[in-house]
Amino acid sequence: IVLLEQAKKSFGDAIVLKDISLSVSQGEVVGIIGPSGGGKSTLLRCMTLLETLDSGRLAYGDLIVAENDAAGRAAYASKAVQREAKMRFGLVFQNFNLFPHYTVLKNITDAPLHVQKRPKDEVFEHARALLGKMGLAGTEDKVPCELSGGMQQRVAIARALCLNPEVLFFDEPTSALDPELTKDVLNVIRDLAAEHMTMVIVTHEMSFARDVADRVIFMDGGVIVEEGTAADLINNPRHERTRAFLANYE
Ligand code: ATP
Ligand code: MG
Repeated sequence: IVLLEQAKKSFGDAIVLKDISLSVSQGEVVGIIGPSGGGKSTLLRCMTLLETLDSGRLAYGDLIVAENDAAGRAAYASKAVQREAKMRFGLVFQNFNLFPHYTVLKNITDAPLHVQKRPKDEVFEHARALLGKMGLAGTEDKVPCELSGGMQQRVAIARALCLNPEVLFFDEPTSALDPELTKDVLNVIRDLAAEHMTMVIVTHEMSFARDVADRVIFMDGGVIVEEGTAADLINNPRHERTRAFLANYE
């Protein structure tokens, strides 16, 4: 449902993505691991249209978002097509990114109501069901600062899910949380994986990646160094760079 081919991206002289191809199928959970500065966030930002590719191809199902032109530069589809593509994924960042002055319920329902223009009753019912599922029943009228970081992150996940995305992207969803709060967020993601939600998760939680991901990608220096099943890649890395990285997590 998401296809990225031969993606390249530079910032000035720094080549951040060298040649990345990645496809994600329906129901698959892909974990992305790798050292700081390896390009993981840039990859997610390019896949979610927060950054533009210099060259390569990006498609969401039948929607071609970017494709190389004759000169080999990524040419983007119309704004309308980009908007349609953006409806197909959700994004959860490290720092929650909730609207601080909106209640929990308003944070979750704002885009479904005003961007997707769905009926009010249906959206509120959906939002309440998601809050229940995230263990957040009763927080509807609170504002984010009244909640723990772990709860805020679960609100952010509920907000992403309320848009009915085909795929959810996570960029280090627990790295701003202490271990106790991390557990609740990881459990929510684990439940989503059990329901076969399609997800791409950048994480430093190796045991979580091993448990929950169907496929793990090790990225370093703007390339995919190695990829495989979670058990294979994390337990039996083939490349020296992957081994050296994983040794930090023993
Ligand atoms: P981390 O694990 O620390 O989050 P990462 O793998 O997500 O690292 P990126 O954030 O993708 O790595 O950054 C890769 C490289 O691109 C870094 O050298 C970073 O400084 C550079 N970079 C990222 N975004 C920009 C930007 N907007 N402008 C200039 N350089 C950038
Ligand atoms: Mg990052």
